[in-house]
Amino acid sequence: MKALIEKANVLIEALPYIRSFYGKTFVIKYGGAAQKDDELKQAFAEDVVLLSYIGIRPVIVHGGGPMINETMKKMGKAPSFVHGHRVTDTETMDIVEMVLGGLVNKQIVSLINGKGGRAVGLSGKDGGLVKARKKKLQKGDAEGDLIDIGLVGEVTEVAPQVLGSLDKDGFIPVISPVGAGPGGETLNINADFMSAAVASALRAEKLIFLTDVPGILDKKGNVVGTLTKAQARRQISSGAISGGMNPKVNAALEALQAGVGKTHIIDGRVPHCLLLEIFTRRGIGTEIKAGRAS
Ligand code: ADP
Ligand code: MG
Repeated sequence: MKALIEKANVLIEALPYIRSFYGKTFVIKYGGAAQKDDELKQAFAEDVVLLSYIGIRPVIVHGGGPMINETMKKMGKAPSFVHGHRVTDTETMDIVEMVLGGLVNKQIVSLINGKGGRAVGLSGKDGGLVKARKKKLQKGDAEGDLIDIGLVGEVTEVAPQVLGSLDKDGFIPVISPVGAGPGGETLNINADFMSAAVASALRAEKLIFLTDVPGILDKKGNVVGTLTKAQARRQISSGAISGGMNPKVNAALEALQAGVGKTHIIDGRVPHCLLLEIFTRRGIGTEIKAGRAS
């Protein structure tokens, strides 16, 4: 009996969160370990389906870098990167679109549907969701000194109507980070920035990044629970935030600027990390928020 009452208590503890998040949109950037390990994949899909059944509107944006590299190698092509951006020639872009929009996207759709959700896969091209332009990378300090990294895009505009249509009938959108350029050309977009752009356009309540670390770490390696925007900017300029965390935090800052409620960077290696973040007072990982740190 005690164990049963304990179960009821766990559900009741979640009640204030369920009440306040009812009808709200959560954009989730799905990446890292949670996208590779089978048990974690199942737990992720369960969390997403649970969220949708209690009235939260999950929108998934996924990455898939390791799968792209694997496929490129199988095809005898060596991946190359400049400042963390994949150098994307036409052939690479075809592979990116096939792997992300096909294989990876449909795997996630199947996972969610397998748990009783109704997921629909789309890329930034579908329904004109994401417009982009070629990203220009500065070589040095000199103006105009640019490196051409090919078909890598940055989002210029999000038209979220297609997501509204899906939401009306209870579908869960699963978006691959590919967009259309001004001439209809296909552009490869960083999934962190893509998720921030989608969250901004939807005025999402939360933007949650699943990654392979416990959160943002300070110089001593401890997880920072909460950061204000100003603190996050300082961490970037001091070099405490670098590598793959850099686009994530910049994307989070962009989303906050655009009116997204809160952004979270959480450990995708923890099973059911989404539920732990959303339905417990302490949460897990790092929260970057607009106001003052508490
Ligand atoms: P994802 O697949 O989630 O995008 P990335 O590898 O691109 O993962 O980004 C996360 C990585 O960022 C971490 O594994 C870590 O190596 C790096 N990183 C750099 N600075 C920090 C920091 N301050 N805190 C945590 N991780 C950091
Ligand atoms: Mg990354």
